[in-house]
Amino acid sequence: MLSRLRAFFSVKDDEPELNRARFRALSRQQPLMYGIITINMLALAFTHMESAPIVLTVIVPVMLLIFSANRTLKYVRSRNRNYTDAQIAASLRSTIRIVIPAAFAFAAWGLSFYQYGNSEQHAQVVFFLGVTTIASAFCLMHLVQAAISLLAIVSISTCLFLISSGDNVLAAIAFNLALVTIVFSSLLMRSERDFARLVVQKREQRRQHARLQTLNEENKRLANTDSLTGLANRRAFLAEIDNRIATDGPNGREFVIALLDLDGFKPINDVFGHPAGDQVLAETARRLCEVFKNRPVSVARLGGDEFGLLFNAPGSDAEIVTMAQRVCAALRRPFQFEEGSANLSATIGMARFPTAADTRGLLFDRADYALYFAKQNAKSRPVFFSHEHERLIFANSALEQALRDADLEKEMSVEFQPVLDLGRGQTRGLEALARWYSPTLGRIRPDLFIKAAENIGMIGRLTEVLFRKAVAEATQWPDDLLLSFNLSATSLTSKTPIQRLMSIAERAGLPTSRLMFEITESAVMKDYESAMDVLKLIQSTGAHVAIDDFGTGFSSLAYVHRLPIDTLKVDRSFIRDLTRNERSSNVLRSILSLCRNLRISCVIEGIETQEQFDCVYDLGARFVQGYYYSKPLSASDTHMVLKIEFESAKMPPGTEMPGQMRA
Ligand code: C2E
Ligand code: CA
Ligand code: CA
Repeated sequence: MLSRLRAFFSVKDDEPELNRARFRALSRQQPLMYGIITINMLALAFTHMESAPIVLTVIVPVMLLIFSANRTLKYVRSRNRNYTDAQIAASLRSTIRIVIPAAFAFAAWGLSFYQYGNSEQHAQVVFFLGVTTIASAFCLMHLVQAAISLLAIVSISTCLFLISSGDNVLAAIAFNLALVTIVFSSLLMRSERDFARLVVQKREQRRQHARLQTLNEENKRLANTDSLTGLANRRAFLAEIDNRIATDGPNGREFVIALLDLDGFKPINDVFGHPAGDQVLAETARRLCEVFKNRPVSVARLGGDEFGLLFNAPGSDAEIVTMAQRVCAALRRPFQFEEGSANLSATIGMARFPTAADTRGLLFDRADYALYFAKQNAKSRPVFFSHEHERLIFANSALEQALRDADLEKEMSVEFQPVLDLGRGQTRGLEALARWYSPTLGRIRPDLFIKAAENIGMIGRLTEVLFRKAVAEATQWPDDLLLSFNLSATSLTSKTPIQRLMSIAERAGLPTSRLMFEITESAVMKDYESAMDVLKLIQSTGAHVAIDDFGTGFSSLAYVHRLPIDTLKVDRSFIRDLTRNERSSNVLRSILSLCRNLRISCVIEGIETQEQFDCVYDLGARFVQGYYYSKPLSASDTHMVLKIEFESAKMPPGTEMPGQMRA
């Protein structure tokens, strides 16, 4: 019983929130309570001024007044202060402690008036005690221990006092007072329980809200973060650009976006596997963050091996280019991963807001164009979108339109460039080279219109037209001559294009063993798996496969042997300084010996001079192609030249020499 009583009167430290709520409620209601007490006391003292002694009517009220004022002030001040949980618990405990003697003093003071005055004044004393106590207990309801102590002390003392008078009326009043006290106490207890429950519920609500908010923030963070690198992702990057444009308006403060693409990343994925690729991407992100540490530049991974940079406070173009060059330099350092190491580089395309474009979509397209331009023309160098690019875009769209409107059968033709077999001293085959004469634009370079056809999805149809024309010519040539035909990357994405070309050759009566398809390394690397399937299909038909422009792409000698190929065509850039640069001739020598080891043919392209010819001859090259031997020839010239060559081959040796077939 005693322990339950003690538990009831104690203020627990492990309920800080409940204590805080009690304290807040008390700080609001205590001044009200002291107000009621003071006014009621003054009223009692005033009506007894004549009859009661000055100690009761003046001195005690003044003391109580001072005490009330002091307590009220304390609670009013507490509203603006931050108390610790311990301070709050201590304050509640002290309130409970103060209530007990204060209640006794209050009851004693009130009852001591009963001996003075007439019967109305007696009734006033009982009324005063009853009403003031209930009102005060009501104000203390959130500290139920204090409220019940006050009620119990004052009511019990009053009831005992009234009963002890022996008067039936007073005893009935005491009975009423006791009844009201019991009912009111039970109401207070219930209200206290509800109050405690409410506080717990509120706390739970707050916790859940906080949990939900954290979850929300985490979701938002995940939705905007690239999980591999920890950088912002494409969505976050686009949102940041949108945000900049929305807050600043279409003519707002300048900023620059840069799109960065890793050169040579795809082969790492394809050859060394995805874990190696992931390591390279994570390291790229780390290096980018290192370069832009403490600078107003946002770094994001846009997907694959493409990264985005947003220069928030850009200086001049030259300053941005310098920074971008620093990025390129950082990414040129070798990348280490478990399976080995690799050297990569980066190409960067940039566009400035609002000069290059004033909407996000256009700005992105322009940076992308600058990137594309950099890839084509200035690999591993940052390029800003410029007026020149704008003009090119315009010209390109004119070219694409002309191609859409072109009558392919009429406007397209094929020229043939012979490949010389030095071993046999005669032409081994001919490479078909596309030609387009547009009635509106004139003669267009094949690399340009092939690219345009790829862009507008016409490459499949164009390839078939060119192939049909080339095959038709090849059927007229001597039987053992190969027809080389260039394939674009799109032809390697599925087996269908090749199957269609094979059936064209079959219908024309050209054996597939006389066909050689030339593909570039970058075309293979675009979709390694599909390209491998297509190459295997080509070889299964007896046709040949050559890697074109070898030396300009990934060019890893280590991976060449994995490809199902029978010929390597060394790019003409190797030949250009062959006679001046010893390094070039060493590279060529090792490529030739690689080909010998792998038992594949090697064609050296771009031989233009006697000197170059002699040089590759000395290096032991077997097949050469270039202006020195022959420029690309029209179909009819090809006929004529082949006729002369193969008829003269029947003549006694020594009368014809390579190099004399120059057009
Ligand atoms: P490619 O496959 O490397 O073709 C060789 C290019 O080098 C041809 O340029 C040829 O005229 C040129 N060339 C040959 N010998 C020499 C030389 O001694 N010196 C110099 N400076 N150049 C020489 P062309 O005809 O302008 O073709 C350019 C590129 O367009 C080709 O490069 C090829 O990638 C592409 N192409 C041409 N025809 C076709 C085609 O039918 N289909 C596809 N997909 N691409 C084609
Ligand atoms: Ca070629
Ligand atoms: Ca080539």
